[in-house]
Amino acid sequence: MRFRSVLWLLPVLFFAQTLCAGPPDTADWGFFAHRRINRLAVLTLPPEMMTFYKTHIDWISDHAVDPDMRRYASPFEGPRHFIDLDMYGAPPFDTLPRERYLALIKFIKTYGVTAAKDTICLFGPGGIFEAQTLKDAPLENAWRSFFVRQVMPLIYSGEVALNRDSLQAFLKNNQLERQGRPLRIETAFFKDDFSTHGILPWHLQKMQRDLTEAFRRRDSRRILRLSAEIGHYIGDGHVPLHTTSNYNGQQTGQHGIHGFWESRIPELFADEGYDYFVGKPEYLRNTTEYFWQMTLASHSMVDSVLTFERALRLKFPADRQLCPDMRNGISIIAPCRDYAAAYQEALDGMIERRMRATIHAVSNSWYTAWVDAGQPNLKNLEVPVADAEAQKEEAEMKKSFESGKILGRPEEH
Ligand SMILES: [Zn+2]
Repeated sequence: MRFRSVLWLLPVLFFAQTLCAGPPDTADWGFFAHRRINRLAVLTLPPEMMTFYKTHIDWISDHAVDPDMRRYASPFEGPRHFIDLDMYGAPPFDTLPRERYLALIKFIKTYGVTAAKDTICLFGPGGIFEAQTLKDAPLENAWRSFFVRQVMPLIYSGEVALNRDSLQAFLKNNQLERQGRPLRIETAFFKDDFSTHGILPWHLQKMQRDLTEAFRRRDSRRILRLSAEIGHYIGDGHVPLHTTSNYNGQQTGQHGIHGFWESRIPELFADEGYDYFVGKPEYLRNTTEYFWQMTLASHSMVDSVLTFERALRLKFPADRQLCPDMRNGISIIAPCRDYAAAYQEALDGMIERRMRATIHAVSNSWYTAWVDAGQPNLKNLEVPVADAEAQKEEAEMKKSFESGKILGRPEEH
């Protein structure tokens, strides 16, 4: 339905009202800033990388937004763009596993169903063997190894059924019993309640590994795709509101602040004088730690992002806060230029600084992957034409995007 296709724009555009319908568009850090960030990151690379990246600079910039478009096609895409850190207590979140596989082991629940149709949570939060596993190091190692082999490949695949025999054997071999008696399992499955709170810093680890591997193989298509996409996720990781459950000010009466901070302001001011000079990329000794520090830094800014807007709204003339504007032929109501400028000033250039930090981080990530892969020669590296499957996948992604039905949170980009 055409009208429905534009409904999700409303929160993004800050109380925006669509007066006529049109194709879905987004005004987030995504479609303007994500492209700009990838383009500027290319220009910071050393000559050995620049020759390849510069040839494909348009592709890398254009495809910076693919992860957002894929959110319309895959239910597993959304959680990669954010993390609700406040769901895990308070900074510095020491108990939160920094490694992706350890987080999955800790939070994903494994269940067994008995012949009597008893569904029992065995491992993970609330699991009957959870405490025992954590107390006993050999058992914990055994469970980790089982999880990595049997559960991990299925996560984000759509399949949740586990191999019953393997799980039964694992319980037997480790003498895991219920009330002193062996547990007889008829079927087994796992449940992921964890990813709904977002997996952004963990997903970045996977992307970094995949990009390094693509360099190792000198797989030009994958280097381009993964470079474009990790640029996107690193961008999201620099946005404070991508690290909180109050991601659109909905808990504090500031609905629409997400799009205000990450789209309206860069769109209005980025071309007018943001300083993008970031210097040469730096080699990252520990990318996992780096991605976490980036996310935690963003989270530390959430309070300012919300507090300054609330204070400004109270003192700024109410009739000069929202103004009519046009976007792709659609009439909208968005924060006025002066109001946006006042917010930007109250934040003391935070948005410009975060954008600059993103460019540097994207460049650091690409450079580090290339170095870790042994600095492969990228000169004369050809990019083959996309095969039929890749073309089909891209066409489907675009089609889902056009349909305008997002799978997951509407305000997270
Ligand atoms: Zn995103």
